[in-house]
Amino acid sequence: MSTSVSCKNVGKIWAAGTPRAHEALRGVDLEVEDGEFVVLLGPSGCGKSTLLYLVAGLEEATSGEMSSFGQSITDPAPDRSLIFQETSLFPWLSVWQNVTFGLSLGSISDKERKEIATEVLTKVGLRAALDKRPHELSGGMRQRVAVARALAMEPKVLLMDEPFAALDVQTRAKMQDFLLDVWRDAKASVLFVTHHIDEAVALADRVVVFTSRPGTIKEIVPVNLPRPRDPFAPEAQDLRKHLTAILSEEVDKAFAEQEALA
Ligand code: ADP
Ligand code: MG
Repeated sequence: MSTSVSCKNVGKIWAAGTPRAHEALRGVDLEVEDGEFVVLLGPSGCGKSTLLYLVAGLEEATSGEMSSFGQSITDPAPDRSLIFQETSLFPWLSVWQNVTFGLSLGSISDKERKEIATEVLTKVGLRAALDKRPHELSGGMRQRVAVARALAMEPKVLLMDEPFAALDVQTRAKMQDFLLDVWRDAKASVLFVTHHIDEAVALADRVVVFTSRPGTIKEIVPVNLPRPRDPFAPEAQDLRKHLTAILSEEVDKAFAEQEALA
C-alpha cells in the first residue's frame, strides 16, 4: 500500500522568529495509507486546522518533512483539497459553476464543465440543484456542493476541517453516512478534523488524538468496527469511553492555559 500523506517530526510555529511566535504543533509523526479514513481529534486550539493547512500546502511547516505519495508538499495541489466548516460558495454563480470553478481556469469548455458537474452532483444526490444558486440551498446541501466541488478535482486526499460542525444533529448523521458512501466510491484518503467523539467513532479507521497546544500526538486509536457501524455496539461504547477519558485530560489542560492567558 502507498502512503497518501506522510508527516515526519512536523512542527509549526506561527510567526516564527518574531515576538508573536506561537507554537501550534510539535513533533507530529503520521502516515496515512492510500484510501484510509483518519480522524484528527483534539481540544480546541491544539493545532488540528494548522495540520490540515500544512497538508494542503497552504502553509509551510517550521520543521520536519511532509510528503504526499512520495512527493514533498510545497504548494497546494488540486488532488489535495480542503473543505471547511463554512463553505465559501460564490453566491453569484450557479451550483454547477461553483462545482467546476477550479476547472474553469484550464482549457475546458462549458459543455464539458457542465458534464463533470452533473456527474459529481449526481454522486452527492444534488443533480436537481444544478442550476440553483447557493442561497436557495440548505446548510447540508451547501456542504454537499462543497464535497462535489472537491470531487470534481479528482482528489487523492480529502482534507475536511469540521465540515459538519454547523449542521443540526440529524443532518450531521445523514452527512456522515453520505460521506462514507462518497469515500468508498472515490477511493481517496480522508483526513477529517472534529472535536466530536461520536463523529470520530462513526467515521474513522484510526483516530489520532492530540494533546493540548502545542499539539503532539497523544495516542492513535484504531477503530476496528465493521461498517455500517452500530453506534450502540458495546465495542463502540468502549471506544467512546476511552476517547472521552484521554480527550478530557487535554481539554482541562487547554482550559487552564487559556485561563492563565486571560
Ligand atoms: P484547532 O483547529 O485545533 O482548534 P488551530 O490549528 O486553529 O487549532 O490553532 C492552533 C494554534 O495556532 C492556536 O493557538 C491558534 O490561535 C494559533 N493560530 C492558528 N492560526 C494562526 C495564524 N494564522 N497565525 C497565528 N496563530 C495562529
Ligand atoms: Mg480548527
